[in-house]
Amino acid sequence: MADPPLALLAEVTHRCPLRCPYCSNPLELERAAGELTTEEWRRLLGEAAALGVLQVHFSGGEPMARRDLASLIAAASEHGLYSNLITSGTLGGERELKEFADAGLRHVQLSFQDVDPANNDRIAGLSGAHEKKTKFAAAVHATGLPLTVNMVVHRQNLDGIGEMIDRARALGARRLEIAHVQYYAWALANRAALLPSRRQLDEATRIVDAARETLKGILTIDYVVPDYYGVRPKSCMSGWGRRFLNVTPSGKILPCHAAESLPGIDFPSARDHTLADIWYRSEAFNRYRGTDWMAEPCRSCDRREVDWGGCRCQAFLLAGDAGRTDPVCALSPDHGVIETALQDAEKTPEGFVYRHFS
Ligand code: SF4
Ligand code: SF4
Repeated sequence: MADPPLALLAEVTHRCPLRCPYCSNPLELERAAGELTTEEWRRLLGEAAALGVLQVHFSGGEPMARRDLASLIAAASEHGLYSNLITSGTLGGERELKEFADAGLRHVQLSFQDVDPANNDRIAGLSGAHEKKTKFAAAVHATGLPLTVNMVVHRQNLDGIGEMIDRARALGARRLEIAHVQYYAWALANRAALLPSRRQLDEATRIVDAARETLKGILTIDYVVPDYYGVRPKSCMSGWGRRFLNVTPSGKILPCHAAESLPGIDFPSARDHTLADIWYRSEAFNRYRGTDWMAEPCRSCDRREVDWGGCRCQAFLLAGDAGRTDPVCALSPDHGVIETALQDAEKTPEGFVYRHFS
């Protein structure tokens, strides 16, 4: 029997005014007409709390594109769930944040595309985005909600990492998350334009390590490195179906936000099944749970209950089979695809394919 889930990522919509070329939303975005209704979300949040979920992360797309977000936060709060807002900060400001805080919101995570306004807006695909985000950070500060600044980094902004740290402090953040792009969905389509060089990565890591020392007790810095430069994979989602649930805008329940890219798995909908049924009994959540599904080299590896064989989506996207070892592991027979991608990172960056509704 699996343990209950810890956290739920609520992708309440795929609508977003930005067009980031590394967006983790699927290439086929869901339209507003198919989104779960307020009542469906309220019921689902109640089921999540009953199942044992402790935290809800309201995300998207841009979650503030939903006019009923305050009532969804209130529903989470009524069920005793800790709620976090993950936003681009380009829709709304102090009035909405005050409403969210009154509804029970506990934390805001605000993303930037760069510290340089022109480069921020170029990457976001939206003119004026940086200015709106800066005002939004001030509004978070004014409402007294704790703020995490999220800087998504890659080869086209990584050299500004020192200024990103200074900016997070200036914006009043208590935490800074510097997350290297993970190569799924739109990011995989743009990998040649986004993957940093080894020199860039080493210099950025040196700056982050030094800042962590100087800013101890002032600013917490989380740093997620690109797994292409590792020799062992990340423990993706802490293992398939072990800790996390992801809800798509139309109510499909996934073990991670990229899982819809896997063919041959029928991900159940919260419209047709209870969350408890999906979590404990669905074929989709049991497919890669634990270690029984593993082949060699994972099956006999002493890290199989540490990283759970890495990421199933990455195994499918790079090796064509979700049941294989994640190719970022140096022990994987498919590891050569990573080395080829890293060689490409030394070439001139390409232009972006921007996220769009097809
Ligand atoms: S990554 Fe960019 S485009 Fe995608 S949801 Fe976030 S802000 Fe919007
Ligand atoms: S062989 Fe499998 S279990 Fe071992 S380190 Fe690599 S991915 Fe992890």
